[in-house]
Amino acid sequence: MISENLQQLKATLKPNVQLVAVSKFHPVEALQEAYDAGQRVFGESHVQELMAKEEVLPKDIEWHFIGHLQTNKVKYMAPFVSLIHAVDSLKLLKEIDKQAQKCERTIDVLLQIHVAKEETKFGFSPEEVKELLADGTWKDCRHVRIVGLMAMATNTDNKEQIAQEFETVRQLFQDLKTSVFASEPSFKELSMGMSGDYLIAQEHGSTMVRVGSLIFGERVYL
Ligand SMILES: *Cc1c(COP(=O)(O)O)cnc(C)c1O
Repeated sequence: MISENLQQLKATLKPNVQLVAVSKFHPVEALQEAYDAGQRVFGESHVQELMAKEEVLPKDIEWHFIGHLQTNKVKYMAPFVSLIHAVDSLKLLKEIDKQAQKCERTIDVLLQIHVAKEETKFGFSPEEVKELLADGTWKDCRHVRIVGLMAMATNTDNKEQIAQEFETVRQLFQDLKTSVFASEPSFKELSMGMSGDYLIAQEHGSTMVRVGSLIFGERVYL
C-alpha cells in the first residue's frame, strides 16, 4: 500500500524534485515500509517523535525537521538532522549555529517565508527576509548553511491563489539567488508543496515537496 502510493506519487514528480516523505503521527512500521520501498528522506514536525523514530530506524535515513522549532529543542536534533525547513527568526538561526558548532558540524537550513493568508503560519515576510539578509549578522553563523527557502500556501481550494503565493516565493528565491547568494551555489532549494498542492508547487519552481497523507494515508495519533 505505502510502496504503491510512493511509486504513484514519484511518477508525478519532475526529475529535479526531491520527495520528503512526511511521516509525522505515523508509526515506525509505516516508515519502515516506505524505507523498504527505497525512501530515504523523511520529514517530522515534532521533536520527541523525531527522536524516538531516529533511535530505532536505519541510520542512513535523512531526517528533515519541517515543523515550527523552538530554540530550546534544537539541541536534541543537532547531532543528526540533515535539513531544518522552517527557520523563522534570527534567534533560531543563532541557536542552530551554536548547537551545530557543539556537534562540530554544519547544519543546512531553509528560511520559512510567510505568504499564506492565514495568521497561524510562521515565517518571514519577503520584506523581513530581505532585511535579515541585508543586515550581515547571519553571516556570523558559520555552522549553518542557508540552502534555500520554504513556504506553505494558504489552505484553500482556490488554485489561482495557491499558484500566486508559490510564485511570490519563487520570485523572492530567484532574487536572493542572484543577489545575496550569488556566490553560493548551495542556495538552491525551494521547499514548497504538500499532498494537496504539490503539483502546483512544482510548476512554480519547487525543488522539494513535503508529502504526507498521499503516502501514508490519514494521520493517526500515536
Ligand atoms: C504535515 C505537513 C506536511 C504534509 O502534509 P500532507 O497534507 O499530509 O501532505 C507538509 N509540510 C508541513 C510543514 C507539515 O506540517
